[in-house]
Amino acid sequence: MPTLKLSTLAAQALGWVESTTRSLVPPIYPSAPYERAADGTYPGGHTYTRDQTPTYEQAEALLAQLEGGQDAMLFSSGMAAATTVFETLDVGDHVLAPEQMYWTVRSWLHNLAGRGRIELDVVPNGDLDALRTALRPRTTKLVWVETPANPSGAITDIAATAEIAHAAGARVVVDGTLATPVLCRPLALGADLVMHSATKQLNGHSDVLAGALVTANEDAVWERCRHERAYRGAVLGPFESWLLLRGMRTLFLRVPAAAQNAQRVAEALTRQPAVTEVLYPGLPHHPGHAVATRQMSGGFGMVVSFRLRGGADAARQVVGALKVFRNATSLGGVESLVEHRAPVEGRDTNVPRDLLRLSVGIEDVEDLVSDLEQALMPLA
Ligand code: PLP
Repeated sequence: MPTLKLSTLAAQALGWVESTTRSLVPPIYPSAPYERAADGTYPGGHTYTRDQTPTYEQAEALLAQLEGGQDAMLFSSGMAAATTVFETLDVGDHVLAPEQMYWTVRSWLHNLAGRGRIELDVVPNGDLDALRTALRPRTTKLVWVETPANPSGAITDIAATAEIAHAAGARVVVDGTLATPVLCRPLALGADLVMHSATKQLNGHSDVLAGALVTANEDAVWERCRHERAYRGAVLGPFESWLLLRGMRTLFLRVPAAAQNAQRVAEALTRQPAVTEVLYPGLPHHPGHAVATRQMSGGFGMVVSFRLRGGADAARQVVGALKVFRNATSLGGVESLVEHRAPVEGRDTNVPRDLLRLSVGIEDVEDLVSDLEQALMPLA
């Protein structure tokens, strides 16, 4: 077999064929129990659905290959994947997290720290000097990175972060949700684990809640993650696993298409008088542009945020006037969404009140740009 490109592996879902019927599309295995033989062994290699499910093995194997990892695990949500990583920490372990990151993970970390489970320090995204200063050799166990960050698009240099963190004995976990392995492969840059909200572009059709972890090494921490998933039952159901695998087959078409649209949308927004700032790493003025250009390829993702002259009122007005962008939370689907982010995140948010987050889909980009232009016109 020749060495195949990642897009080929994805389109063919690794080319697995079901052995009984020779079907190219995998069956869904809803069974919770698996039969033992008379001697008590499990000849089918499966015991119980909280430990293993044949339906998610193919999606996990594909994701591991796409990320260049040794192994992958699917979870019942992105949050289940993220919190499983934190569950591997011991009481008092020190964690470094970025200032700008997906707010529920941030809030979870602050909650853990507030209850004395972990020690937490927050560093500005991508600030390597701040990272060096905040690292406590041998006490810092985990450096959490989210790049591009949701919703600011802040970029962190993964290779530099890994070098600094590893020198202090800390592991690096990258939330790669906004990039997907199509645009960025954190393990190749030195990260230890990659985490995804597979609800987003990995699935791509806004019809599955799922999460994933991929590891560079099947080490003791990975075994702890596996143990946590099985014991807490944070597994992805067989039907969702099947849908996710189907979604991943078109990943290499959807991700570049959405990124190309996002770039055009971001550029169009820079020409709007009512817009004070466009936050998209694909724009040359973005502070993370140089690093993003180095560590991403094929585009800068589907999330574009922008700020408005006129504050929160203007943001509400624009959301109300958009017709093609649907006003809904989430991101990474084939359809474009808009969200006024700060009110969703509540009082503790560090997201500016005048910020709108777009998740750019794969519609005709002219329709997307015209929709934004008509919604912004009254504010000009
Ligand atoms: N990480 C990022 C960057 C996200 O955007 C999200 C959800 O929006 C999550 C993690 C959590 O994922 P889920 O909603 O699948 O639990």
